[in-house]
Amino acid sequence: MPICIECRYPVKTLYTEYAGAGESSGQGVRLTVCKNCGRFCDKYVEHDFVVLFIDLVLIKPQVYRHLLHNTLMRERDQFDPSIIRLGVLLLLFDVYLTWARIEKQTTVNLTDSHSSNVLRLAEQPIVVQYVFFLILCAVSTVSFHLSIRFLTSSPFSPLKLFGLLPFYPRPNSVSTALLVSSSTKLFPILMVIWEYDVPAAARSLGWAVVANNVEALKILLDCGYGTAAILAAVGAISRWLVGRGILWMVGLEGVDTVGDSGVAADGKALWALVELGREWGGRLGLG
Ligand SMILES: [Zn+2]
Repeated sequence: MPICIECRYPVKTLYTEYAGAGESSGQGVRLTVCKNCGRFCDKYVEHDFVVLFIDLVLIKPQVYRHLLHNTLMRERDQFDPSIIRLGVLLLLFDVYLTWARIEKQTTVNLTDSHSSNVLRLAEQPIVVQYVFFLILCAVSTVSFHLSIRFLTSSPFSPLKLFGLLPFYPRPNSVSTALLVSSSTKLFPILMVIWEYDVPAAARSLGWAVVANNVEALKILLDCGYGTAAILAAVGAISRWLVGRGILWMVGLEGVDTVGDSGVAADGKALWALVELGREWGGRLGLG
């Protein structure tokens, strides 16, 4: 059942069509007004993809409710076909970015011992290189999804045992939320002029994806920001570990994978700040 994207009140239909009106003209459709809050139940019914995408990048909760509750939710937890296409697109984009990043690192620090392994990889036929990065990104992404799905939808989830999160029986909806919220990764496609190699840009994009993931999980699972942040963090850590593991197996342990490294570095800095704050707080408390 669809919901009002402003107040989450369940509604029967999001719009009604006039009798005899042409559908192609875009007219003759009247949006339902919510009985609970008096606003339009779902204004995004009338908006096109570009508006949706921009509001998605701006992390508007309404657009997530529209997508996750009113558009992409299927009976019996099936994937919407457009979500599978989005997943493939995200994967291919990830492959490109990871490849570009690792290739760039080889030209920067050639003195390290692992650089010979990177060079050996770079000497392989292009198809072999592509398949390697495809496997690297696919396995990392799968581990990201599986770890979060385990926490939300497994009866053995520690979050459920500690009472932080009720059992959520729709794991594919969780993956849908993660894929939709990761589409911020595609933002540089819209900005072809923007030089993506700027580290600050890559780093803020990484954080934008994290913030989007947290918001989408919070809206889908109807939990607090803390629980959603734990889920996103566990997913990011398992993706990072699996990516590192694969790189380690081929002797590339010194190489960073895309995006995560910036977020990981910022996370470390933030943690140091928290520790410092705690230390100061302790001192002030004692003195
Ligand atoms: Zn409402």
